[in-house]
Amino acid sequence: MNNPVYDIAIIGGGINGAAIARDASLRGLKVILLEKEDFGNGASTKTSKLAHGGVRYLQNLEFGLVRSALRERSLLLQNAPGLVRRLPFIFPRYTGQRPALWMVKIGLSIYDLLNQKDAPTHENLEAEEVIKLFPDINRFDLVGGCLYWDAEMDDNRLVIETLLSAERSGAVIHNYSKVTEITYHNDLSEVTIEGTPPHHIKARSVVNATGAWSNQFLEKSPTRLRVYPSRGVHLVIPQVHPSYALILEAPQDRRLFFLIPWNGLSLLGTTDLPHSGNPDALTITQPEEDYLLEAFNAYFPTKQLERSDIISAFIGLRPLVKNRAVNNVSLISREHVIEISRNHVVTILGGKFTTHRQIAEEVVDQMIHQFKWKFPASSTSYTPLCDASKTQVKRAQPICLLHAHTEADVIHAIRVEKAQTLSDWYYRRTSIAYSECRGIPCVRTVAQIFARELNWKDSKKEREIRHYLDSLYPPVNQETAQTPQVTSISSR
Ligand SMILES: Cc1cc2nc3c(=O)[nH]c(=O)nc-3n(C[C@H](O)[C@H](O)[C@H](O)COP(=O)(O)OP(=O)(O)OC[C@H]3O[C@@H](n4cnc5c(N)ncnc54)[C@H](O)[C@@H]3O)c2cc1C
Repeated sequence: MNNPVYDIAIIGGGINGAAIARDASLRGLKVILLEKEDFGNGASTKTSKLAHGGVRYLQNLEFGLVRSALRERSLLLQNAPGLVRRLPFIFPRYTGQRPALWMVKIGLSIYDLLNQKDAPTHENLEAEEVIKLFPDINRFDLVGGCLYWDAEMDDNRLVIETLLSAERSGAVIHNYSKVTEITYHNDLSEVTIEGTPPHHIKARSVVNATGAWSNQFLEKSPTRLRVYPSRGVHLVIPQVHPSYALILEAPQDRRLFFLIPWNGLSLLGTTDLPHSGNPDALTITQPEEDYLLEAFNAYFPTKQLERSDIISAFIGLRPLVKNRAVNNVSLISREHVIEISRNHVVTILGGKFTTHRQIAEEVVDQMIHQFKWKFPASSTSYTPLCDASKTQVKRAQPICLLHAHTEADVIHAIRVEKAQTLSDWYYRRTSIAYSECRGIPCVRTVAQIFARELNWKDSKKEREIRHYLDSLYPPVNQETAQTPQVTSISSR
């Protein structure tokens, strides 16, 4: 990092920071983005994987949010077709549930009206049709259901592709660069990056896109907004249906939850509870697991999943905007708020992954207006994010028999996508950490490629392997996990 003056220094390499870097650099602004861990380390890779309008927000009459999210869903399908796919949802209803089936039908008719005509309209289903799709579903008191369409996304790949697109337009992008301080003198901000010695970056403005960590750079004033993080847990469980998703109501508290087909398995989530501690100290609790398993088992009584059936799990923090009047975090709006402080720090709070492009466009528009800069309008609504064919072509023999990734993919992740640790590869360049094998059979092969590329000594390689295996949830037995494997890669 030399010492140029940037137009914008962005703190946070989640989807919002990435999208702001892309929008601004495509317009010709000089941008640097700094992420304290790996890209997408926060909420942006812990989502329900839905590019959606959010049918549940219709219950809170948030039509504006749903309309703009549906518009963004449509743009994502158009501009990132390899990473976003249509997904059919079944919404079954039972006697006594509120809203009743007839109200759900009205809600979905509104959803059809708000959508951008990029999906078929919803259909009404008889109870037998729901049972035909999900033969194990609880039939008692089932009155029928609806079929409607949303979309599924590769959240981790969207973060990386957005950052790579920003980089191609000139943005400077760094992971493992923690910002510790922002100061402001004579119309210039100085951003301090942790290190020995620390680095300093000069910029005309700073964007605080640190999600659940945003309060660290916000003024501690009762009149200013604060982030109110909410915990969301997902469990990965054996496949329930290969292509249809379910939206269901948890019997414990009547919240809606999802069961989504994901990488040959099913994703069950999510919870929504306040998190008051350090955003870095995040572990899944047994009551959170039990809540999801109990909700699932109420609808699939013959399956009776137990904790030992959980294949993997993850937890993220929703960066919700604090509203003192609302105690139930499920009722806090997912609308975003942009705050510009006197010292040119722009903070983005709230929002959804689906709306990241629109949020970025608004942030950069507001900065250009506020600071009286002259740059062109945003081009991200019509600029493809990545080449769909590129994400589908596989070039060589896979590293192991369980996944399609090749040695070239690992090298690309290290050289081009800035992966620096085994966890970067397994959690955020791929989702192998959440798959049935969790990457354990190929961990030594992948570590060997990292060691060769990054000149790791044997001790560093062993530490990295242990660290990755330690990070897996549910925990693995390190002794049995580290047995050597037979692979297709020669250990050069
Ligand atoms: C459980 C759950 C499910 C969700 N499901 C969906 C969904 O299906 N669809 C949808 O549209 N939305 C969903 N969301 C919402 C979505 O995930 C968030 O709105 C979005 O990811 C927020 O992105 P972000 O970039 O603002 O925050 P983050 O992704 O959290 O990024 C903030 C980044 O800032 C970094 N950072 C913090 N402090 C510093 C520092 N000092 N220096 C440098 N970097 C720093 C962090 O390491 C982090 O990577 C879900 C959220 C959760 C938690």
